[in-house]
Amino acid sequence: MGETIFALASAAGRAGVAVVRVSGPGAGDCIKHLTKKGIPAARRAVLRALYGADGAVIDQAVVLWFAAPHSLTGEDVAEFQVHGGRAIIEALAAALSALPGCRPAEGGEFTRRAVLNGKLDLTQAEAIADLVAAETEAQRRQALRQYDGALSTLYESWRTELLKTLAWAEASIDFSDEELPEGMLADMRHAAEAVRQAIGAHLNDARRGELVREGLFLTVIGPPNAGKSSLVNALAGRDVAIVSETAGTTRDVIEVRLDLGGYAVILADTAGLRAAAEAVEAEGVRRALARAEAADLVLLLLDGSDASFADFLPKDMVKKSLLTVWNKADLPWPSRRDGLALSLKTGEGLEAVIAAIAAKAKERLESAGDAPMLTRPRHRQALAEAVDALGRAMAAQEPELFAEDLRLALRSIGRITGRVDVEDLLDVIFRDFCIGK
Ligand code: GDP
Repeated sequence: MGETIFALASAAGRAGVAVVRVSGPGAGDCIKHLTKKGIPAARRAVLRALYGADGAVIDQAVVLWFAAPHSLTGEDVAEFQVHGGRAIIEALAAALSALPGCRPAEGGEFTRRAVLNGKLDLTQAEAIADLVAAETEAQRRQALRQYDGALSTLYESWRTELLKTLAWAEASIDFSDEELPEGMLADMRHAAEAVRQAIGAHLNDARRGELVREGLFLTVIGPPNAGKSSLVNALAGRDVAIVSETAGTTRDVIEVRLDLGGYAVILADTAGLRAAAEAVEAEGVRRALARAEAADLVLLLLDGSDASFADFLPKDMVKKSLLTVWNKADLPWPSRRDGLALSLKTGEGLEAVIAAIAAKAKERLESAGDAPMLTRPRHRQALAEAVDALGRAMAAQEPELFAEDLRLALRSIGRITGRVDVEDLLDVIFRDFCIGK
């Protein structure tokens, strides 16, 4: 890792300011070469001219210096804040590339170095990606908490507990029963079981953290002509609601990402259903149910003016839906309808429908307690392995097998944060360990 890397840290394209970051042993030399002056005091903004290889001034820049290890990456870091024009950034990149041992960074390389230098653990590194990608308040809050180390602290607490237990287990292998403190074997099992249950509870979170991060899938189902497409269009057409529009990668449908009450909700256009409208009713219903199956939130949209729906409505569809909305309130209705009334023609009731969806999203995603949420399948898988290993440990009769399964559990948890140095830590714990003496 002797190389010095640099990259544009701000977004590409025209901007008031562009930030170019340099990290590595040559960062100080970069400042000296480019400014033709000495390295400024750490963490102090200084205004300097930057010179290119030809000796001409590239731009005036605010220069910042962070000496290792007190920097983003743990290495020497220099930051150049220049005017955000393409020619300036290109000239600066050329000047940096010309310096010995200095090259453009690869994607994620700064964060990777921060992890390798112990500045961040893996969950915090993931949180940086999430912070940058956050589109809603809930996503931002969750990512920031993870960046602050909420998940690391939780997982580390389990690891420490298991390491202590493992130390006792190792001791019980080396010493005879008479030499061991009374009740130690039982205590050991209690401790392992307590961690197993804590992880189990953390896993049993209805995927809230993952859904906050990825967004909730909302599907609008209902009979043909109820106004499903009109509803999707109405929701997507509200400027305040739209975050971005992306074509689905796996299916050929437009997915609209909405920010509803601070939560990301992904609304898939019901193109599939529309195609089925002319076909037999049963096929439309079958497809609607399949869609509902895959969705996190289901809104059942019905035509309040159509008298035939009451008979037609399949029970399964009603059961799946979390919200029932009756459309076409501007037309006369044959009878009273239970649920929200809406007219997509006049727009009446639309705000209430949006508020109701937001409330359902909040209900589904808001965590009950204060505990941080698991945010990635990677964490889930590793924790599930840990729970399995601890389950086997509880069933093991031999202390050797108990210890071996604890080790496996520790390794699984350690993989989440990137700390897998079981042996090292065990040495530390074991050094101060004294049995009954
Ligand atoms: P979908 O088949 O469920 O997707 O329904 P569409 O959104 O295509 O709407 C079916 C028909 O109902 C269209 O002709 C719409 O113009 C009409 N429609 C939708 N919403 C309303 C409404 O609130 N009032 C009235 N009168 N007509 C509506």
